[in-house]
Amino acid sequence: MAEYANVIVGISNEKLDRIFQYKIPDRLKQQISVGMQVDIPFGNRNIKGYVVELTDLAEYEVAKLKEISGIVRESIPIESQMIALAGWMKKSYGGTMNQALKTVIPVSQKKKMKEQKTLRLLVSLSEAKSLLEEYKRKHNTARERLINALLASGALSWEDATKKLSVSGSVIKALQAAGILGVESNCVYRNPISHLVREEYGVALNEEQLGAVESVMKDYRRGVFGTYLLKGVTGSGKTEVYMELIARVTKERRQAIVLIPEIALTYQTVIRFYRRFGDRVSIMNSRLSQGERYDQFERAKNGEIDIMIGPRSALFTPFDRLGLIIIDEEHEMSYKSEKVPCYHARETAIARAKMTGAAVVLGSATPSVESAYRAENGEYRLIELTKRVHLRPLASCEVVDLRQELRQGNRSILSRRLYGLMEDRLRKKQQIILFLNRRGIAGFVSCRACGHVIKCPHCDVSLGQHGGGRMICHYCGYEEKEPAVCPSCGSPYISGFKAGTEKVESLVKRAFPTARVLRMDMDTTRGKDSYERILSSFANQEADILVGTQMIVKGHDFANVTLVGVLAADLSLHIGDYHAPERTFQLLTQAAGRAGRGDLPGEVVIQTYDPDHYCIRAACRQDYESFYRQEIEYRKLMYYPPVWNLLVILCASKEEVAAGYGADCLARLIGGDAGGGACADEKIYLIGPADAAVAKVNDIYKKVIYIKAKTYETLVALKDMSERYVRDNRDYKNVSVQFDFNPVSGF
Ligand code: ADP
Ligand code: ZN
Ligand code: ZN
Repeated sequence: MAEYANVIVGISNEKLDRIFQYKIPDRLKQQISVGMQVDIPFGNRNIKGYVVELTDLAEYEVAKLKEISGIVRESIPIESQMIALAGWMKKSYGGTMNQALKTVIPVSQKKKMKEQKTLRLLVSLSEAKSLLEEYKRKHNTARERLINALLASGALSWEDATKKLSVSGSVIKALQAAGILGVESNCVYRNPISHLVREEYGVALNEEQLGAVESVMKDYRRGVFGTYLLKGVTGSGKTEVYMELIARVTKERRQAIVLIPEIALTYQTVIRFYRRFGDRVSIMNSRLSQGERYDQFERAKNGEIDIMIGPRSALFTPFDRLGLIIIDEEHEMSYKSEKVPCYHARETAIARAKMTGAAVVLGSATPSVESAYRAENGEYRLIELTKRVHLRPLASCEVVDLRQELRQGNRSILSRRLYGLMEDRLRKKQQIILFLNRRGIAGFVSCRACGHVIKCPHCDVSLGQHGGGRMICHYCGYEEKEPAVCPSCGSPYISGFKAGTEKVESLVKRAFPTARVLRMDMDTTRGKDSYERILSSFANQEADILVGTQMIVKGHDFANVTLVGVLAADLSLHIGDYHAPERTFQLLTQAAGRAGRGDLPGEVVIQTYDPDHYCIRAACRQDYESFYRQEIEYRKLMYYPPVWNLLVILCASKEEVAAGYGADCLARLIGGDAGGGACADEKIYLIGPADAAVAKVNDIYKKVIYIKAKTYETLVALKDMSERYVRDNRDYKNVSVQFDFNPVSGF
């Protein structure tokens, strides 16, 4: 039982920084918890505040602390729920309560709502007419126009008066002051999708889909709020299942949140939901202005909407009767926050659902290994959709061995097979996608003759290429010099493996001079709307070949694409991160799904130096099961998540020595006796400290420590211990220490 409570008074964003500490009287110690509203003495009055943290550490002189007067026992407002969730996030992911609160409570802006001003006549009809005569006589044309318009329509918006009639604000104000007209001001919330139209909805679910809906609803009606993994290939009707679940839940006056990766949150998706649910839906995305986003949360709070669609941050929509959270494409990396607290939307959704009594549905064609593992262990319930709704066959897929190409004298980025198929499609006026599954930052070193990749002997991930001919492991810091010849076959064709879309574009243009080539990557999509523009231009067949990174493989339908080429599957296979096979499998499966979406059958060519790798073979057969079986064995062998848990501690400082010393001390603390105390009967593995993958960013030096433990709780205990140590130790004055649990990408 904690001695003290940290309390915020008011939760508008400016005030989040003002946290006050109070003593908890004995009579309240049993009942008080994070998120509760309490009565507190404040100055010489009594006000209400929210408990954001319980602690045994007094931050002020104990004698001067006041006591909480009581707990407010009304129905729990939504703020309490969100604060309790922030408390859970702080506990589970580290960081300060403030950082957690700022994540769950949206930024409130000074300019909160859009103001709509309406002008109305305050004088009688006859008075107005005589005024009109007077203005005419005096050639007050602006006044004349305004009174005329008001006589005709009764009321007029400020915009219409000033823009359409070009009446200045000062004229309006003068008439207002003279009591001739009144200006009413209304606040309206901005609605980002007010221009869409609702339509009749007429899809009847098939048996499999109904079964899926029933599995969730049967539990739901009994008050069992589980987590469900809905697995089904693209086109198997998952979205229809989501919508049916939402329809049923909202019919009982409960609310739903749908998370969709930002990149997949296209107009087509939004319109599908809007057609079915109309104005009860709103969306969030990064293109909305801060004011627009704030408004969407206000609309949710006021009960104006009951369905919110958006990326990760939409999870914090302040619905007070939340019944359902859907996470589409649950395997996506973007569900993990890179900012402190480094929360995962999946885990946080499940935590929020537990607090409020809601079901969580995770959907994917290629579930994350983590979710599949939890489903296997019964923590999630697996629901499968096995058929595609429109019985279109999957594209046929073949693997091309690039080592063989080299052996036979072809040093181009296009294998002869892919080149031949491209010629064929160009002749038939069908479209082609060339996919460069580039990920991560550092290149790796591999042999073009035999495909051998240089790996860390301790971590079984590829070594990253660094300046001065060095290769470094991003987990443990192991280092080795780049070899001159392949250690496996002796070939001199061993080198860093890097390729960019721009280079590919120019090579393709050279190979097919008459073809029209479009490129889509970070550079070409920087401008506003450029992403949509490139996609629609390709959809309208204004180009023959689209070259791009993973952003082109996310669920876009191009009916005329019949060939997809993956230029080098190895690019994502050797990113120096244990997720490499998982990411590669997902990317290849998605890429393959881009071919043959219309009536024409599709073909996929995967080029690689490692044709026998299980993830490439499984992706080629679209065989998730076999991929998962082999991947989970590898994770078990290496004690990687989800079998064990992994905590990364990142020490960053402008002074390299300070960052290094800070990391060393923490590693000693955790690895030594104290660490043994925090996890007395559990074995942990400590790896590092090592330089982060990008060891220096903006003159900030970064060191990382990896800790593997069987249970998450052990890692939380080590995090708590480290946080205390850092707080009480002056050596960390110029070192920032961050925690990341089960990271989704390397550091
Ligand atoms: P997923 O989300 O799994 O990719 P969708 O729900 O988008 O699948 O379904 C694919 C296509 O099939 C969509 O055009 C959808 O409208 C249609 N569809 C899904 N279920 C049905 C159904 N029961 N009857 C008719 N069309 C359906
Ligand atoms: Zn070799
Ligand atoms: Zn290593």
